[in-house]
Amino acid sequence: MNVYLDNAATTQVHPKVLEAMLPFLKENFGNPSSIHQFGRNVKVELENAREIIAGFINADPGEIYFTSGGTEAINFILHGIAKTEISESGRKIILSSQIEHHAVLETLESLDTFGIKHILLPPDSKGKITPEKLKNYLSADTSLISLMHVNNEIGCVNPIPEITSLAGLKNILVFSDCVQSFGKYPIDVKKMGIDAMSASAHKIYGPKGVGFAYVKSGTPMNSFLHGGSQERNRRGGTENVAGIIGLAEAAKIAHKDMESNFQHVKALKEFFLHGMMELDKSGIFINGDESGSPYILSISFNSDMYNIDSEAMLIYLDINGVAVSNGSACNSGTVKASHVIKGIGREEKDAQGTLRFSFGIYNTEKEIEYVLETMRKFVKQFIKKN
Ligand code: PLP
Repeated sequence: MNVYLDNAATTQVHPKVLEAMLPFLKENFGNPSSIHQFGRNVKVELENAREIIAGFINADPGEIYFTSGGTEAINFILHGIAKTEISESGRKIILSSQIEHHAVLETLESLDTFGIKHILLPPDSKGKITPEKLKNYLSADTSLISLMHVNNEIGCVNPIPEITSLAGLKNILVFSDCVQSFGKYPIDVKKMGIDAMSASAHKIYGPKGVGFAYVKSGTPMNSFLHGGSQERNRRGGTENVAGIIGLAEAAKIAHKDMESNFQHVKALKEFFLHGMMELDKSGIFINGDESGSPYILSISFNSDMYNIDSEAMLIYLDINGVAVSNGSACNSGTVKASHVIKGIGREEKDAQGTLRFSFGIYNTEKEIEYVLETMRKFVKQFIKKN
């Protein structure tokens, strides 16, 4: 049996998404910037997709910028806001957390050369940044807070509305990377109080290489890609029309089925976790807590009890048909202890032995039974024999 439990890395395109995209790769091929009917017809559909996305997060269509995915949306937002903040307010500090996705961490580093500094807050042992912790770091130089909604490795959920209430008192902007929550959790940018967010289609059964940035109107923003006047002059380049149509269709399906999908993966995660605890209660640590996303389960193996070899563990599962990840998929290929697992306080030797199981709409209870069976053999294979 082959079981795909790496849905936080990417998902397969939903058949209805593919169906919606195909005409835009065939007969509806016009360039949305063209004046003639081929272009105009496509432009109408593009704007319709923008309205659909805006509707799902309670934003205005003019606040949505289509991008090539989550990474670009993050770069678009952080560069766009940070560079204008320097000239307009002179406040040069961005606060973020140590366990953000690399797309955020490395973009923040790239801003150093522009004189913009960042401070990475240590999360609590469950991976969260609490408003109480944040309070200690706020200063007159803070311009922006960048905090992810749901963590991609351990699934912990940051208390974004509480963070934005605090930031609002000091006129500090808040950006939240919502790549792992869009389409899985209700997102209302007004209720959450965020000024910017990023999202990606391929995490919710849409195509790869497309996503969007939400930026609240009136937020100071630089252009990101220079060239054409697309995306209100801020992101030049002919739009990925089929991808954007796919993103909107994927979002539609995800929103329609949000509650039932949530309950489905929650039941699978609980079933799996229960089985794992029966296998070995003392040798397995759960990263994060019960309030985390049901889509993600991260566990670390106690290095005193297990032979920790992250690559060997992944390969063992792969040979047995089980696809999981040992951390952020975007890092796969390089096997080193994840900054997230170390960030929540796990020792390097235990952090090395971490597996992320991420559940999706196509997973079944039968599959989980098979994975538990495989884990039973896995435990025997990797446990230290004295
Ligand atoms: N942010 C988070 C939390 C993610 O999980 C990912 C992808 O894994 C990204 C950003 C990057 O998104 P994309 O793959 O669309 O560039």
